Amino acid sequence: MVVFFRVAVHHRGTKNTKVTQRKLKLRYYPLHKSEPVPGSGLTTNPMDLFELTKKLIDIPSVTGDEQAAGEFLSAHLESLGYKVERQEVEKDRFNVFATTAAPPRVVLSTHMDTVPPHIAASENDEVIYGRGACDAKGIIAAQITAAEQLRAEGVNEVGLLFTVDEEAGSEGARIANAHPPASECEYLINGEPTDNKLASATKGSLRLTLNARGRSAHSAYPEQGDSAIEKLLDVLQDIRDCQWPSDALLGETTCNIGVISGGTRANVIPAEASAVLQLRLVNDANAVKSILEMVVAGRAEVEYLSVHDPIRLFTVGGFEQCVVRFTTDIPYLSRWGQPLLIGPGSIFQAHTDGEYISKRELREAVTLYAGLARSLLATAGVTHAGEIAEGAPR
Ligand SMILES: [Zn+2]
Repeated sequence: MVVFFRVAVHHRGTKNTKVTQRKLKLRYYPLHKSEPVPGSGLTTNPMDLFELTKKLIDIPSVTGDEQAAGEFLSAHLESLGYKVERQEVEKDRFNVFATTAAPPRVVLSTHMDTVPPHIAASENDEVIYGRGACDAKGIIAAQITAAEQLRAEGVNEVGLLFTVDEEAGSEGARIANAHPPASECEYLINGEPTDNKLASATKGSLRLTLNARGRSAHSAYPEQGDSAIEKLLDVLQDIRDCQWPSDALLGETTCNIGVISGGTRANVIPAEASAVLQLRLVNDANAVKSILEMVVAGRAEVEYLSVHDPIRLFTVGGFEQCVVRFTTDIPYLSRWGQPLLIGPGSIFQAHTDGEYISKRELREAVTLYAGLARSLLATAGVTHAGEIAEGAPR
């Protein structure tokens, strides 16, 4: 079914008249036909928004296995006329960065990888189901469609960046940060499911392991040993009772005890036990580290795995706003301009077996991404953050 039409405008000068007259002739080019748009050098998109979303969902790309999705996106974007760069992260894993001939002052970005397991696409009139429907393959499709709309209008200073590994350690974003586009890149519009609201801030994150050590002994003679598990349980209880900082905008610091392990068998006093924790931060990570170390008080070793502070995002007027608690690629793309965050779908759908994206929200997202890029390009380079931003990055 044809959903979108592209409008081509032909100007024809009239000879031998004192006043030049131009006749405008409108022609409509359905996007499902791959035919050139006269005078633009573009080829029409052979896939509409929903087809592209389903096609992307049907290519499995669980973190670590993104090659096929990267190959498809590279070929698709090249066929549309983009210059495509592959940023190798490791063998058979690469980010896809697409640009037009113009320098990309605004880059639309999200990730290609998904959590397991792969779930093929299905649909009804209202929604598209499948792994990555909202996190983040529908977003990839919406961003490409928005870039195509902009390009058809002659707005070319837009790039597209699709990363690998966001669902693990954002290794793709870290590699991309080592290859920032030229200093012309002023804004990065990152896509994650925010219900199409513009996020004004994201919580920070602190991931750590607690390692408790004891001494093994026969369980009938516990006085001969020192239980690492009991030590760890005491530490974890104190952490659960802890008062963490809160923030007026970002709310509460939260702490999840995500993994717990230790011991060997029931009749052995355990010599080792560990727990992996993830805290979502609303203020400086160092302040939280100090509280944590005070609570642990040397009863377990604290091993920090990853850390980043909360981020105030760039915002513009005219968009409904929100605050998000989850982590994105944004902290690792610090050299790609001022960060913004918006995308269709709900984070409550992401990572679930019934993951879906609403078709209405997908269409809206195309309009939002294109509108946001237009308004940023209209102000970029001449506007200081305070003039259009309600919150500058920090
Ligand atoms: Zn995501």
